[in-house]
Amino acid sequence: MLKKIKRYIYNFFHPVIGEVWELHRVTENHADTALQRTYEITPARLRFLITEYLEKGYIFISMNQVRKVICGEEKLAHKFVAITLDDGYRDNYEVAYPIFKKYQIPFCVYLLQNEVSGVVQGNYPMLTYEQIKELDKEPLCTLGCHTYSHPRLAELNNEDQYREITTCHKWLETLLNHPIVDFSYPFGSFNQDTIEILKMMGIRQCAMAWGGEVRGRKTSPLMIPRVLVTEKDISK
Ligand SMILES: [Zn+2]
Repeated sequence: MLKKIKRYIYNFFHPVIGEVWELHRVTENHADTALQRTYEITPARLRFLITEYLEKGYIFISMNQVRKVICGEEKLAHKFVAITLDDGYRDNYEVAYPIFKKYQIPFCVYLLQNEVSGVVQGNYPMLTYEQIKELDKEPLCTLGCHTYSHPRLAELNNEDQYREITTCHKWLETLLNHPIVDFSYPFGSFNQDTIEILKMMGIRQCAMAWGGEVRGRKTSPLMIPRVLVTEKDISK
């Protein structure tokens, strides 16, 4: 009972204002292990969730808009959802993109540098340069950095963190010829050094790998919480 009251009071003072969904692969193929399945959903599940949230009255916005909302620069009349996809798998382009296009929903893809251009990561092909460039032309899509090689940044010294972030950032800005201001922490791992480097690089909004819903307006734009979207609770 006390727990319930505490929860009620917490929710009252920290109301949920939206959700940032964390996706990886979107595919019909079923992965072999439960761990792999944590990192993929089917297109049917994605469509189901989008429809469900639209029916509930949520609006779908970009990560740039999420920053504006949590910084108080923009006011929304409804709760929001922002969709993000980590790592840059090819199915993001082939399977997920047509769904976002159909529903006219913004989405953000965080790219690793050393896994692009069709290189296979595990058994999964990554986006090609052509696909990245095409996504960049799509007004619904934002491209962001996810480091060079997907390390746990908090376990690296300052110099190595700097290299991991700036190498990927410079590569993407050069490839696309415009500033890149979005970032997501591999494994959600970061420390104060990471934040300082990101600020220096002109990154404006960063996605964590945990944290649940976005509550209130006290959230830092460099520590935006996310909800991991999985296949399993489709029946709920
Ligand atoms: Zn990742």
